[in-house]
Amino acid sequence: MTPVFRFAPSPNGLLHLGHAYSALKNFDMARAAGGRFLLRIEDIDTARCTPELEARMLDDLQWLGLEWEEPVRRQSEHFSDYRAALETLADAGLAYRSAMSRGDIRRFVEAHEATGAIWPRDPDGAPLFPGRDHDDGSDEGGVWRLDVAAARDHLGHKTDPGWIEEGTGPDGETGWQAADPAIWGDFVLARRDTPTSYHLSVVVDDALQGVTHVVRGRDLFAATAAHVLLQDLLGLPRPVYHHHDLVMDDDGARKLSKSRGDMALAALRAAGTTSDDVRRMVGLPKTV
Ligand code: GLU
Repeated sequence: MTPVFRFAPSPNGLLHLGHAYSALKNFDMARAAGGRFLLRIEDIDTARCTPELEARMLDDLQWLGLEWEEPVRRQSEHFSDYRAALETLADAGLAYRSAMSRGDIRRFVEAHEATGAIWPRDPDGAPLFPGRDHDDGSDEGGVWRLDVAAARDHLGHKTDPGWIEEGTGPDGETGWQAADPAIWGDFVLARRDTPTSYHLSVVVDDALQGVTHVVRGRDLFAATAAHVLLQDLLGLPRPVYHHHDLVMDDDGARKLSKSRGDMALAALRAAGTTSDDVRRMVGLPKTV
């Protein structure tokens, strides 16, 4: 079976060295494995992702020396695929419409913590959703959430909730990773203004595109628990995962971010940097 790799950026800002590292690493690994390399544009946030940013992104990636298969999959053109997956989950009683707003959740958690109790947080530090029992539900307009308890019951013993990590997690995790499906609580499957979510669309697309190797930044290691759960619920194959190190800022303290305008490739290009310079800067070998 030919291995299939993908780089899946979101055109909501300019690409920086961290993206270059991830893209080149995927590309090099695909080449070394005699595999395919796909580019996927994750633009479900149609307010922040623009055609101009996408065009600049493609230009930067070409400049880096990447070659990908055409046509490129653009998520905003495939909302019906994600809706079908959501319907599968809803029909099985595993997804529900939730009426609680962010403010409602905050007030709920504050009231709970005022008693001295501690409310559980997800790996990003956000309070877990209080659950279906605390939600009045919504006929329309609310966000869709996964009912994790129902999902667990539904899978029973048929699941093998974990993945093979070929890279390393934040604490050096490698090899077989048992995934705790509950760490994200009843996470969002579709938003009010976007008919899907990152977790749902990434899982649907990796399967539709036959991706066998997910190579991405370590900041997405914890998200894999949500991804393997959705794969099991939707009957989708499990890729292997390789989470790689993040390119840090000059102080080595923080990962680069688009919002801080860190080290945009466009600025490096304008300053005369070459793509081989970029490879050297992120510690990857020169192109052969
Ligand atoms: N689109 C995500 C990002 O820009 C990456 C998704 C993934 O590789 O799973 O961070």
